[in-house]
Amino acid sequence: MIKRFIRKVLRFGTRREPEVYPAAEHGIRRDAISHGARKVCEVLASHGHRAYVVGGAVRDLMLGVQPKDFDVATDALPEEVHKHMRRARLIGRRFKLVHAVFHDEVVEVSTFRASAPGEVDEATGRVLRDNVYGTIEQDAARRDFTMNALYYDPATETVLDWHSGVADLRKRRVRIIGDPRARFREDPVRMLRAVRLAAKLDFQIEPRTRAPVREMAKLIESVPPARVFDEMLKLLLSGHAASGLQRLRAEGLHHGVLPLLDLIHEQPLGERFVALALAQTDARIRADRPVSPAFLFAALLWHEVLAAWKARQGRGERPTPALFAAMDDVLDKQTDSLAIPRRLTATMKEIWSLQPRFENRTGKRPFGVLEHPRLRAGYDFLALRAESGEAPGELAEWWRRFIEGTPEVRAELLLPAAPGEKKRRRRRRRSGPRPADPGPPPVLAD
Ligand code: ATP
Ligand code: MG
Repeated sequence: MIKRFIRKVLRFGTRREPEVYPAAEHGIRRDAISHGARKVCEVLASHGHRAYVVGGAVRDLMLGVQPKDFDVATDALPEEVHKHMRRARLIGRRFKLVHAVFHDEVVEVSTFRASAPGEVDEATGRVLRDNVYGTIEQDAARRDFTMNALYYDPATETVLDWHSGVADLRKRRVRIIGDPRARFREDPVRMLRAVRLAAKLDFQIEPRTRAPVREMAKLIESVPPARVFDEMLKLLLSGHAASGLQRLRAEGLHHGVLPLLDLIHEQPLGERFVALALAQTDARIRADRPVSPAFLFAALLWHEVLAAWKARQGRGERPTPALFAAMDDVLDKQTDSLAIPRRLTATMKEIWSLQPRFENRTGKRPFGVLEHPRLRAGYDFLALRAESGEAPGELAEWWRRFIEGTPEVRAELLLPAAPGEKKRRRRRRRSGPRPADPGPPPVLAD
């Protein structure tokens, strides 16, 4: 410790050298590095290049967390990496990267780059382009947080650290590299990343990093909604969605991400429903079970849909068209800040529109619901609604038995038709579909 401190003092004012941590101090075992990442580093080193495992993988390994994937940073140009690796793809037009392909993994290999000051938008301070090759030191400086700027060299088993990332890992804190305001202005997504990583690792955001977030939170609005979606999906699927969203709210960052979440927290039932959905998602992720992003977003926005649906019915609209219009109201409002891709919104609508159909338990209609391709998700959603107290527990239980039941059990479960129901249906048929009626919900079509 003291020796390290003296070295640091001696270095002050001279060219910056990294802290070098040997294996005994960083604790990463060489065999914890994926086969592919080790191979890439070996091959590049054999051609005289420098190549390091970098970013999230080094951070996670030092914390004893299994990394999602491995990235390599090198002084070799993309074309050189491509030439030296047996199976590799050059990707990206503006900034080239190489994907080195192995039988069970893909390693992303990037050339050291610098952030170019000339490439910052004058008005907003946002980085427009980030495509200048640089030294390893510059590569470290352009990364977001100190703990994400650690370079592991498999050959010497050392970790290089220019920004005291190892010290921050030990203090369990997320600290931005450089001036927080400038770095958040360059890329406001870094604020979301700070929260996501703090939630994932159960870290604190260092006070100086955290200080400007609340007032800069509005900048998220200028980020392309598709990118906000990607970052939020990472947060929601991190296994720490509940604490992640709580932290987002605490930092005032949720306005630009899930503006509707504010309203949900004003309704106790809605809040309970969202909390249950997030807890269930986190439990599934931690147990390595699959999670459906559509289900999750459907849950986050359900009480908004309910409120819009009720409002429309209050204005005299009929239930089914009112529900479909309410779903569009909510999705349109949401998409301005965070663009949920169409493939997900289609499924979300199916899950939502199944809910009122569960209420009908007479005649042939429940059998139609059984055929629905989203029955499983729709039923899970109903069960969650029941657990939160918004739908009758008896209804969810009835459906569980109906879905699992034999034909005899199902026949017994069916409720008698309400008196007058047939008559009403016949009358409607005679008068033909009304112009305002869009007909059955589109989910029936597939
Ligand atoms: P995860 O565990 O979610 O993969 P990660 O830190 O690896 O976390 P990635 O999105 O995979 O996150 O990014 C890899 C690395 O690229 C980061 O560790 C960081 O060094 C750098 N990086 C990513 N996004 C940014 C950003 N917005 N600004 C600066 N550096 C970034
Ligand atoms: Mg990563």
